[in-house]
Amino acid sequence: MAADKDSHANDKLIPDDGRAHLQALFKDLKEPVALEVFTKKGVNDPYSEYLIKLATELDDLAPKITATVHDADDPKDKKIAERGVEVFPTMLVAPDRYAIRFLGAPLGEEGRTVIEVLVRASAGLSGLAQDAAKRLDELTEKRRIRVFTSPTCPYCPGQVLNAFKAALQRPDLITAEAVDSSENPELADAAGVGGVPHTVVSAPDGREHVMVGLFPEERFAEEVVTLEDAAEEEHAHAAPGAEGLQELDAVIVGAGPAGLTAAIYAERSGLSTVVLEKDVIGGQVTVTPVVENYPGFARVAGKQLMDVMAAHAREYTHVHEGEEVREIKVGKRIEVFTNRAAYSARALIFATGSTWRKLGAPGEDEYFGRGVSYCSTCDGYMFKGKKVAVAGGGNTALTDALHLAHLGAKVTIIHRRDAFRAEQHLQDSVAREGIEVRWNAVVERINGADGRVTGLTLKSTVDDSTSELAVEGLFVAVGQKANSALAQEIGVRTEQGGFIAVDRNMRTNIPRVYAAGDITGGVRQIVTAVGEGSTAALAMFEDLGNPYWKQ
Ligand code: NAP
Repeated sequence: MAADKDSHANDKLIPDDGRAHLQALFKDLKEPVALEVFTKKGVNDPYSEYLIKLATELDDLAPKITATVHDADDPKDKKIAERGVEVFPTMLVAPDRYAIRFLGAPLGEEGRTVIEVLVRASAGLSGLAQDAAKRLDELTEKRRIRVFTSPTCPYCPGQVLNAFKAALQRPDLITAEAVDSSENPELADAAGVGGVPHTVVSAPDGREHVMVGLFPEERFAEEVVTLEDAAEEEHAHAAPGAEGLQELDAVIVGAGPAGLTAAIYAERSGLSTVVLEKDVIGGQVTVTPVVENYPGFARVAGKQLMDVMAAHAREYTHVHEGEEVREIKVGKRIEVFTNRAAYSARALIFATGSTWRKLGAPGEDEYFGRGVSYCSTCDGYMFKGKKVAVAGGGNTALTDALHLAHLGAKVTIIHRRDAFRAEQHLQDSVAREGIEVRWNAVVERINGADGRVTGLTLKSTVDDSTSELAVEGLFVAVGQKANSALAQEIGVRTEQGGFIAVDRNMRTNIPRVYAAGDITGGVRQIVTAVGEGSTAALAMFEDLGNPYWKQ
């Protein structure tokens, strides 16, 4: 049945400016792309309605996109059996050429994946980096890849794209599915999903391999082929020769608030830049549920704030997501080698931020993605109505606890002292929400059964006595560690905790190498990261104007 366009004429999902952007993008579509939507009355109805709307609006935007809707209760419609659809709603993308499906409506973060896969399917190109494509070309048996997602998980679209690109690269052997866990809780439960993105790769003989988190393309391809954990070093990209170097004024490593601001300031000073980000744009702020202390935004989701900042930066510079710096050589020029390319720059800014610190308690690794999480924004929704604990007493821990409580989880904060270090405003909110706090306690052990967290053994920091706390989830928020390994490799001086030592203009001990944001330690706020980013860029502009460095 052709999609009923008229009944969805009003109340558009895609806003007008988005439509104009997509229309321009779809002008270059090569091959036609069919979107097949499958629904069943009484099953996930609001999501089916959303998916029909989305597919229909995309159909409206380009003659090369055709949406059809298939109702499982229509006995005349044979497509459901033909395509083997068992979950509703489901959307297939270019099903005559590829095995790419969305199980559940792609809500929130997953929306942009639809556009990207649609464009790639039309072009018939996976868009995988050369090494990843080459590895997948060596695959000789079938693979089914299922990526479980949540609508608020900033890392999920990247992992879904990994799977879809793999299916585009090897349409003969790979099927890929993005499964929205909130719409398909029984599928998520059966797969043991306790954190997203959660990827299950299966082989025809029943072997399965699980990946938790967002993986770089090369490692993803490797694990799809071998069904085994692959240490990243083992398949490190060979650095291209000097002839392949792209020349520019500055390479900025890290696309959080500091890196993006540095790029804006540098470009506005007339310096050419590229921003390289190994994960996703936005850094730690992207996974901060709510930010209430960034001037101009009384209350804003961290992801939303970073989307605005990233859009602003993109007006000036190129931001490369999923591009990881592997090696830096400092000479008269600074050479930067990544998993994709090589750059020759006059200067470099480290804005690599920090990543969460582990507790170091037994069970933490074993139950990671199975109840243990470091990202309440990604995984919080799975704990609605359930008991969870948050470990830590800083701003992150209290922000996470409030977010989880608002999602409907029963939260207990576990803090090793008798006072929080978080700002008073957050402490007041925690008290107002009636969130339970276990003072003077640490997590001694994370306990579980059947591969899921069932509780914690807590130890008193006062008298060493132990107690049990029944929870299904543990959110760890015990601080950050500096991502300064690369900087240290080239001799950048660091201080306690690995934070980079800088002068008041963000210069490091190495000429034309700067650092900004969380990587320099200190109060580690978004506003300070932004300030340090601009300072680093302006110092760089001043230094590069020096005749000695004019090259
Ligand atoms: P943090 O401020 O370093 O707090 C870490 C917390 O974990 C502390 O309460 C610490 O206890 C506790 N802790 C550390 N190691 C532990 C262990 N092994 N076992 C149990 N507890 C442990 O880290 P954060 O909260 O992630 O914040 C990092 C930075 O980002 C801070 O500068 C913070 O202000 C900033 N931030 C700001 C915002 C915001 O303003 N909206 C939001 C998030 C983060 P003690 O207190 O006893 O040391």
